[in-house]
Amino acid sequence: MKGKVFLIGAGPGDPELLTLKAARLLSRANVVLHDALVSKEVLALISRDAEVIDAGKRAGRKLLTQEEINALLISYAETRATVVRLKGGDPSIFGRAGEEIEALRKAGIEYEIVPGITAALGAAAAAGISLTDRRVASQILITTFSRGSDGSVMDWGCVTSTTTLVLYMPGADYAEVSERLQEGGLPPDLPCAIVSNATGSLQQVRWSCVGQLASEEKLPAPALLIVGRVASREVEELRSAFWDGEGKTLPPQHLSVS
Ligand code: SAH
Repeated sequence: MKGKVFLIGAGPGDPELLTLKAARLLSRANVVLHDALVSKEVLALISRDAEVIDAGKRAGRKLLTQEEINALLISYAETRATVVRLKGGDPSIFGRAGEEIEALRKAGIEYEIVPGITAALGAAAAAGISLTDRRVASQILITTFSRGSDGSVMDWGCVTSTTTLVLYMPGADYAEVSERLQEGGLPPDLPCAIVSNATGSLQQVRWSCVGQLASEEKLPAPALLIVGRVASREVEELRSAFWDGEGKTLPPQHLSVS
């Protein structure tokens, strides 16, 4: 008998943001491999009979390599009916689901992805930001600087004045983040919000702008940055710069706030 592997999104922290499907699968899982990001409250929903493995990879201290995780998923699926791979947020957003899916496919193991609320959405809710506020935004770019060996390569071609940029894994060096955003063409007065532990009990939000990030107090991980006009506390004022008031946006001015 071969079991099935469920790649499940645990959401950003608040256990009530888990899907009903995720909660049901956690309550009947035989084995669960979870990430460091998954909150204690969500882990508490796992069946008491399940074997629970912390596959979390904290910066600099890898507990299990990606290859080891892939191999474990495959070997558990040989003997257990319900194998759960539980990840913070959504498994497909900076969650390495791609590598796991490919390994499972190659091994002929059935799998299913159960989406979760990604941190960008949790953070936007926490900060009361509408990511695509029609008055000032028309697209969202979910991105990060931390992309392995080619981490320094950012494709900013698609960023316009109506792009909301959500920067995952910004790191603790806000001065560097500020510099890199400005190198990418973002103006120093463009608003941004730093959101730490979105939807969790330790949630914090700081309002700033690209040029002032360096002087902001560092917030604890996990944290992300929402950058763009939508992160202004006065979207209404910003919109008059380029919105004709009748639901149509004027041609985008390139990356300038006012
Ligand atoms: N798969 C996850 C992202 C994993 S990458 C998802 O869909 O959300 C890890 C990064 O996600 C962190 O460095 C941080 O930038 C962001 N993140 C995850 N949970 C967060 C939270 N509760 N609050 C703020 N940022 C979070």
